[in-house]
Amino acid sequence: MTARILVCGGAGYIGAHMVRRLQLDGHDVVVLDNLSTGHRAAVQGAGLVEADLLDAPELARVFDAHRFDCVMHFSARSLVGESMARPYEYYRANVTGTLNLLEAMQRAGVQRFIFSSTAAVFGTPRAPVIDETHPTAPINPYGATKLMVERVLADAATAHGLRSVSLRYFNAAGASPQGGIGESHVPETHLVPLAIAAALDTGRRLQVFGTDYDTPDGTCIRDYVHVDDLADAHVRAMDLTAREPGAHAFNLGNGAGFSVREVIASVGRVSGREVPFEEAPRRAGDPPVLVASSTRARDVLGWTPQYRDLDAIVRTAWDWHRAPAY
Ligand code: UDP
Repeated sequence: MTARILVCGGAGYIGAHMVRRLQLDGHDVVVLDNLSTGHRAAVQGAGLVEADLLDAPELARVFDAHRFDCVMHFSARSLVGESMARPYEYYRANVTGTLNLLEAMQRAGVQRFIFSSTAAVFGTPRAPVIDETHPTAPINPYGATKLMVERVLADAATAHGLRSVSLRYFNAAGASPQGGIGESHVPETHLVPLAIAAALDTGRRLQVFGTDYDTPDGTCIRDYVHVDDLADAHVRAMDLTAREPGAHAFNLGNGAGFSVREVIASVGRVSGREVPFEEAPRRAGDPPVLVASSTRARDVLGWTPQYRDLDAIVRTAWDWHRAPAY
């Protein structure tokens, strides 16, 4: 059935892939984005409302103008280091902004909400593979803001019957194989795009943050999941809110970890180029290993990531970064 969906943050990396998927499924999509980190060119074939979640009157106007069946919320400040230095900005954007959105939804009678959460809600992992029973104990303001919203959603389910799903992404990577949209952050801090940038530009060297971790090759291990697989989980989460009340949460990853050195090797294979790198000190706040158990997402949502192979994920990123559209 065709739905009308508001995608907040639809001009950003994961949001733009979500919009494309929803359009392919025949849904009617409106994007709301303040374009602080998103890209106008990423919004293709959907209406763009250029607005900030801190502007409550403008939000009310958006909900007056459209009858949404569901809201997907990708807008957020999302850099761990920056959140440590500027916590007020993070709490304001990620918590106050989301509260404004939820209140606007409540006034308009919109009852279904899909929220971009993060592995950072878990803090330092106490298990090699993280499932939803793992304790939540964020170690930075970014993770704390996301966990606060998850708590708000649980309370909103009780008080207002809001149906929600929080999706905790591990390491999103890759780009749409159809082209035209991809990852483009300023500044870029993520491993895959920086490794590709080093492969493309011989003047650049990737810094490997920490080579003395207690891992097989001494570098950090992460769980890389393709952005289109994340989008697919959102579609399934939206379907879940149609049949189930309550506030739900799922961890989304491939269940397989790759070290920084393995990612560098993958970029080397895919690009056929050398990836110049140098060993650098550890980056503050990096846990050695972050790998998701997505058993719950598989069992409850029927989600199976299509991209299991790191090279396949990196290949789509490489195709985008060789000739980015924005
Ligand atoms: N990393 C690195 N060099 C970089 C960027 C990242 O060695 O220039 C490492 C980082 O320390 C972490 C992994 O790559 O262990 C993934 O980092 P990213 O920032 O991509 O994602 P995060 O895991 O922080 O969400």
